[in-house]
Amino acid sequence: MLRVTSLSSYYGKIRALKNVSLHIKPKEFVSLIGSNGAGKTTLLNSIMGHIQKKEGEIYFNNTDITNLKPEKIVNLGIGFVPEGRRIFTDMTVEENLEMGAFIIKNKDKIKENLEFLFDIFPILKERRKQQAGMLSGGEQQMLAISRALMSSPKILLMDEPSMGLAPKVITELYEKLSLLKNAGLTIFLVEQNAKIALKYSDRSYVLENGRIILQGKSSELLQDNELLRAYLGKE
Ligand code: ATP
Repeated sequence: MLRVTSLSSYYGKIRALKNVSLHIKPKEFVSLIGSNGAGKTTLLNSIMGHIQKKEGEIYFNNTDITNLKPEKIVNLGIGFVPEGRRIFTDMTVEENLEMGAFIIKNKDKIKENLEFLFDIFPILKERRKQQAGMLSGGEQQMLAISRALMSSPKILLMDEPSMGLAPKVITELYEKLSLLKNAGLTIFLVEQNAKIALKYSDRSYVLENGRIILQGKSSELLQDNELLRAYLGKE
């Protein structure tokens, strides 16, 4: 569904990603783990068209999206939840969700998406008239995910969904991601919290200094003592 081939991304002369290759198949839940500064956000921003200076190829299904504008990439069906969520805190929960549906013209489809998301996240239904800024961190992350899903994307990309959340809330959030995967969504997320990402994803890549240094089934990577020492100690 998504294929990145030999991608190098630059900030001026700095090469933040070095020959990164990865792929995500339909209905897979794939994670990319790596410590602070490894290049995780740079990878997502490169896929979403926010970083222009790059070499290599990015394909979404059969479309070359390497040099497309961000709006075009969203329109093709790639949903994105950026780092720090960036919801509209002054608007209500419902208004935030409506904003997420801006590319959908069919009112019935918008209603259907809303009902599906309220089923998965009943707390958002309960709070739909409240200002989004009044929600807890975990609820805001659920809202950010739901807002991205309102446009019926085929794949959801997420930047560190666990950031700033308490362990119990992180588990609750990943349980919701499992429900979405079971409903047929393809998920690709980047995380510093390696343990939770490996526990819930099907496959994972490990990024270090802009390079993929390891990849495999998440359940197998969870057995890799060296990896655990390097990444799981830092939680
Ligand atoms: P974090 O968990 O802190 O978000 P990350 O793995 O997402 O880390 P990136 O933010 O992608 O890492 O950063 C990768 C490298 O690129 C780092 O060395 C960082 O200093 C550098 N970098 C990131 N953004 C810029 C920028 N706008 N200009 C110059 N260098 C940048």
